[in-house]
Amino acid sequence: MESDRVKNIVIVGGGTAGWMSAAALSKLMPEHQGNVTLVESEEIGTVGVGEATIPQIATFNQRLGIHEDDFIRATQATFKLGIEFVDWAKKGDRYFHPFGTHGFDLEGIEFHHFWNKLRERGDARSIEDYSINAAAAYSDKFIRPQSEHGPIINKLGYAFHFDAILYAKFLRKFSERNGAKRIEGKVEQVNLRSDNGFIESIRLADGQVIKGDLFIDCTGFRGLLIEEALQTGYIDWSQYLPVDSAVAVPCEKRGEPIPYTRSTAREAGWQWRIPLQHRTGNGYVYCSQYQSKDEAEKTLLSNLDGKPLASPKHLRFKTGRRKKFWSKNCVAIGLSAGFMEPLESTSIHLIQSGISKLIALFPDKSMNPVERDEYNRLLNVGYAHIRDFLILHYTLTERDDSDFWNYVRTMKIPKTLQRKMALIQSRGRFFKYDDELFNITSWMAVAIGQGYTPKGYNPMVDSLSDDNIIQSLANIRMSIDKAVEAMPTQQAFIDRFCRAQDVYTTAGES
Ligand SMILES: Cc1cc2nc3c(=O)[nH]c(=O)nc-3n(C[C@H](O)[C@H](O)[C@H](O)COP(=O)(O)OP(=O)(O)OC[C@H]3O[C@@H](n4cnc5c(N)ncnc54)[C@H](O)[C@@H]3O)c2cc1C
Repeated sequence: MESDRVKNIVIVGGGTAGWMSAAALSKLMPEHQGNVTLVESEEIGTVGVGEATIPQIATFNQRLGIHEDDFIRATQATFKLGIEFVDWAKKGDRYFHPFGTHGFDLEGIEFHHFWNKLRERGDARSIEDYSINAAAAYSDKFIRPQSEHGPIINKLGYAFHFDAILYAKFLRKFSERNGAKRIEGKVEQVNLRSDNGFIESIRLADGQVIKGDLFIDCTGFRGLLIEEALQTGYIDWSQYLPVDSAVAVPCEKRGEPIPYTRSTAREAGWQWRIPLQHRTGNGYVYCSQYQSKDEAEKTLLSNLDGKPLASPKHLRFKTGRRKKFWSKNCVAIGLSAGFMEPLESTSIHLIQSGISKLIALFPDKSMNPVERDEYNRLLNVGYAHIRDFLILHYTLTERDDSDFWNYVRTMKIPKTLQRKMALIQSRGRFFKYDDELFNITSWMAVAIGQGYTPKGYNPMVDSLSDDNIIQSLANIRMSIDKAVEAMPTQQAFIDRFCRAQDVYTTAGES
């Protein structure tokens, strides 16, 4: 019924979550059917971090009709082919988690089984030698896969590193062009309806009252609507993912940006390095139980490529998620919904996932519990899968050189992860459940990268002779080498297609 339609959507918060929500809803909402209003407070500001993404962000851009090169130019972005993990399994070790795949499936059987069979027979090559992403990354090369490039380059998966402040600005312009209205102001009061507890309106510090049918809470960690007003509750996962603090600082870049993120394990956590066109973003995510704020800052500052461009920014968080992401007529998106450390750059993806599921289950004013419960179920499952994948990185460490690593190496892990690990360990089997984000390449990259190589392989691979497997794998390696040799460097690619203008430069941090 026309009168039941949600007409007024109020988004509170103008960080990445707020502006991604505004961009999607203002673009995709049928014209004349509703209004999107975003309230943000410059005085409070945004978290100002969150600069590495995963390939799914391309879907978000495509759906909104955002041209990739415009987005790259506006946000000083670079390409990301994966993540290099340094000192994670043990000090001196490294491995690469690539986007894209390892090799090709042969006869319908996953590639890593063939690799494992040859390894068992004494072939010392790493599974990374069969990843076009790893080969391109370590040669500083990049090309955007096009259909005419053939099967090897078409296996290249990529995401972006971008400047978070510029991304919000870019999306703000986009949203305002599509009719979203921005209001500057601090929300001081959330008014609930007495009959059903729904949010009726918000009151700003200047006295303005804004009514809405649907409220989207993008207020960051505090969860002004979902928690402070609706008291939804929080599930704490810090027993599995104990890091609870971060210190971040941008620094001058040195040389050309590399096309991947680097994550280096440190005494009580790990440090990120995110290369952008105009600067490098850095941060140390650590556990405050094992390291002080001052020590963490010292660790970060002594491991930068260049001169810091701002004062280090300290942040605190609690790993976990809201008990409900959608409660009454309020949907929490972004940090207000929950947070897991940025080890695999999943937060922006979870924002995107929340928005696309909200659009798929878009309610009317009654907020039918069927749609709301399905939304909560899907998001719960999505968060739990990511949590398990993050824990894998810690539980597989061999490090015993600090209290932090001793804790994570020996901590109890969820049963869901135990089952997955047992399947990987026996013969390298992996299944994606529900809408699970990370695929077999990701799980194998981290498991094998950290020395948890499957003990056996799928016996089906014996349908190909050893000679046949040896030849097929040699052909894949040769094709990768040839393809990478012919690619431009990432810098040459950026210079040609999507170099940012200096006008976009900010010193805002990651
Ligand atoms: C250390 C760290 C590193 C991260 N790295 C990554 C990464 O590499 N990749 C990734 O995907 N994610 C990363 N994230 C997560 C990412 O930063 C967030 O998901 C993203 O920035 C979204 O934040 P947000 O918009 O939810 O919150 P915020 O940026 O905190 O925005 C909150 C908004 O609410 C407004 N607000 C709050 N209270 C009020 C009020 N009373 N009245 C009006 N407005 C109000 C604020 O002004 C602001 O506009 C990282 C997070 C941390 C902590």
